[in-house]
Amino acid sequence: MSRLEAKKPSLCKTEPLTSEKVRSTLSVLKGVIASCYGPSGRLKQLHNGLGGCVCTTSQSSALLRNLSVTHPVLKVLTSSVQNHVSCFSDCGLFTAILCCNLIENIQRLDLTPATAIKLNKYLLSLCTSYLKSEACSCRIPVDFRSTHTFLSLVHSILTSKPACMLSRKETDHIGATPIGSLNPIVSTTYGSVKDVCSARFGSKHFFHLLPNEATVCSLLLCSRNDTAWEELKLTCQTAMHVLQLTIKEPWVLLGGGCTETHLAAYVRHKVHHEAEAIVRDDGCSQAKLHVAAEAFCSALESVAGSLEHDGGEILIDMKYGHLWSCQADSASVGNWSDTLSRCGCGLYNSQEELNWSVLRSTYHPFAPQTCLPQAALGSASNLTVDCFTAKLSGLQAAVETANLILDLSYVIEDKN
Ligand SMILES: [Zn+2]
Repeated sequence: MSRLEAKKPSLCKTEPLTSEKVRSTLSVLKGVIASCYGPSGRLKQLHNGLGGCVCTTSQSSALLRNLSVTHPVLKVLTSSVQNHVSCFSDCGLFTAILCCNLIENIQRLDLTPATAIKLNKYLLSLCTSYLKSEACSCRIPVDFRSTHTFLSLVHSILTSKPACMLSRKETDHIGATPIGSLNPIVSTTYGSVKDVCSARFGSKHFFHLLPNEATVCSLLLCSRNDTAWEELKLTCQTAMHVLQLTIKEPWVLLGGGCTETHLAAYVRHKVHHEAEAIVRDDGCSQAKLHVAAEAFCSALESVAGSLEHDGGEILIDMKYGHLWSCQADSASVGNWSDTLSRCGCGLYNSQEELNWSVLRSTYHPFAPQTCLPQAALGSASNLTVDCFTAKLSGLQAAVETANLILDLSYVIEDKN
């Protein structure tokens, strides 16, 4: 006969974010995620002591699926990012890093959660209105007369997933081949096979796909090992999903960190020049608006800065607000126009008269040029671009999740 144990009372912790343990765990999680970001992101190897598969990845979906997170605050964050990735496939790391940055930056300020949340919502609305507006110069319309923009998009996705272990030549090719049509992609487009058999010609072995219909488009993925193959499958699914999203909402955002730095420059300038009108409507002091805006903008800039993993210097130009990366060994030169070549997205080069500032330093707010050069519309094939829908949604998810976590007053756990 089993003995009944008295039910233990629930464990109640107040103000979870004030706990040093929570702060340091959040900082470790951010470090793990940020070190994966971008084309030169560092890979993570995940496995457990029970055996089974070893996962080598730098993608948020695989990382978060295999990462064991126990603290409720971190669970809110990881669940929110996983939810974003399940809906949009891309920009998961961007969402997670931005959310962590916002929480960290706001915590250093002397603002009540209610004020910080209200101001974060306002700053988010500034960003989303700008990104959706005709004046936005980090958004490029998709030209359906050519596949250039689509290829750039797929190329950006493939090159930011180093665990796929694709060579440069291979990346230029698992980019061009899948796009046979500009029509909306439906499952019937790919056809179906009724059987698969193997065939041998000389020393070579082949798969023979026997189609049901006359036309079959096949995307056959193979890789050198299982973990790289898993990464490649996930990456191709992401690329397919991003193409579908882009057909529905035909815009792309400039990548390589340029959208983040440009957006930060835009928000800084807007708040600097219109603070009086903003607080008149919002009812808080100008001082509070300025510190919250600085925390918000530096959180965006830190995401862009996370693309650099080799000790190089990150700069912003004072005309377009784009990101420029300078290699570590030439960072002390100081004469930036000789050292830099192109901005992160590839749209601008350093030949024209530009002034730069180190991203971490404070610069005087300036209005970033909000008119996209006509040449940019035709040069999309050479640019690094991001999915508009996924990034916009990631921005919203990051700010909303940070606000939700900043608003947590109690964590109540049932330990029975
Ligand atoms: Zn750029």
